[in-house]
Amino acid sequence: MLKFPPPCDKVLPHDINLEKIPRIDAQNGICDKVIGSLVGLAIGDALGASVEFRPQQYLAANPVRTMEGGGTWGLEAGKWTDDTSMALCLASSLITHNSFNPYDQMIRYKWWHKYGYFSSTGHCFDIGQATRQSLKEFSDRQKILKIHYRCRNENEVDALTLDSVERIDDFNISCGDKDAAGNGALMRLAPVPLFFHRAPKNAVENAGLSAGLTHANRKAIDACRYYAALIIGAVNDFPKEKLLDNDFYQKQKLWFGEIPLDNDILSICAGSYKKDKNRGGYEQGIRGKGYIVNALEAALWAFWSDGDSFEKGALAAVNLGDDTDTTAAIYGQLAGAYYGYKNIPKEWLEKLYARDLIISIGEWLYFQGSQITSNHSKNENVSPTTTSNNNAKLSEKKIQRTISAAATVQSSSSETNAINNQSKNAKRNSTIRITDTHSSFSSNETNNTSINRTSLSSDAHVQSSSSKSFTENFEHDDLNLAHRPSFYPTEKSMSDDDS
Ligand SMILES: [Mg+2]
Repeated sequence: MLKFPPPCDKVLPHDINLEKIPRIDAQNGICDKVIGSLVGLAIGDALGASVEFRPQQYLAANPVRTMEGGGTWGLEAGKWTDDTSMALCLASSLITHNSFNPYDQMIRYKWWHKYGYFSSTGHCFDIGQATRQSLKEFSDRQKILKIHYRCRNENEVDALTLDSVERIDDFNISCGDKDAAGNGALMRLAPVPLFFHRAPKNAVENAGLSAGLTHANRKAIDACRYYAALIIGAVNDFPKEKLLDNDFYQKQKLWFGEIPLDNDILSICAGSYKKDKNRGGYEQGIRGKGYIVNALEAALWAFWSDGDSFEKGALAAVNLGDDTDTTAAIYGQLAGAYYGYKNIPKEWLEKLYARDLIISIGEWLYFQGSQITSNHSKNENVSPTTTSNNNAKLSEKKIQRTISAAATVQSSSSETNAINNQSKNAKRNSTIRITDTHSSFSSNETNNTSINRTSLSSDAHVQSSSSKSFTENFEHDDLNLAHRPSFYPTEKSMSDDDS
């Protein structure tokens, strides 16, 4: 198995020893797509890094045409930012544990922030506001574990198993704020659907759980659920017309469980990004902003209008301006899965930092994902056109709870709590080993149904980091509501429990 050095070793990504997989057919089309998705993410990130935060007007006058260094972060051409670092943290967790381990995912994100784990420069030089806040919350909550298990130091706390963490009622792994509606979870998403590329329902469910660790707003969670489904479809050879079918969600609804997507995400599913191809996306309202609804729409606009060219789509995403690297990283995840590694421009691949590591990680995601599925239930059908139907296995009580949650779908907090609860209760529900027993999202929380959804979907009510000055902005990919409703509580800090 591919072994990742601990953060204390300070091994830079390009120096990590790679372990070849003996049984991968170089001509395997699905493997090429899995690698293409992960590499596509990193390529998009690196392509946009030099002009991150630049407004569209600047890029209209000075368009990016190829992989360039310098600019915003002063990186060498081909080096990438937080999008890729966090995606590699997530991928390394999936590979190391051969399962979805949210505690370990948060540990690795923390290592990236504190020690530069999987950073292209050796240290974390950029982090979104919501991500930073969730990691701080996570570190505070770890003090509960340290006391309970009498750990002597941070390393021992970090090494706790998921089982032992989940035994502690006062500890919740999900640290995302309910108002965090930035693109910081979507930018790192790909490893989840790539690992579960033969288990669509698991992929969609875990995409939501993964997002909620740092971004618990319903739009951010549902954007990740939807995009995971698209990546699954792309990896499994869906034609573009099927991926971008306005009825994609309805046709693949079994992948999504019982609770429907947020209305703004549904609007995007229904083709809101399909503008006049004879006019520019920006002039028709497409924005490369950090707000998740903008980001998802922009990436899909780029994919829809790219003329079947990864190069053209990635450049179009970057040249929308603002959160250039993340818009392109989101585009690259789907476009890379659709076009495959072999169709990413060679010139860009040659410049991509730690390319061999990213390819190797893609291979292992493919290999382990395939292997796990093959050992398990036929119900988790790998066909892109059919899915398992675990609903029949839900208890009547769970189904009723799910229906109740669906009826109160206008409450973002209800689903967020459901997902948090599910994350807490899940015992590796993501692994195929218990595929047949996991339930769809459920909810027992309906308290906050009066949340003003308009405020969540209106640019006028959000504070986009891209509106800050170019040089001061270090909180580029996340945003919070400028006016937090008093009935919309923040996560309770558990640091009070620390002795
Ligand atoms: Mg970035």
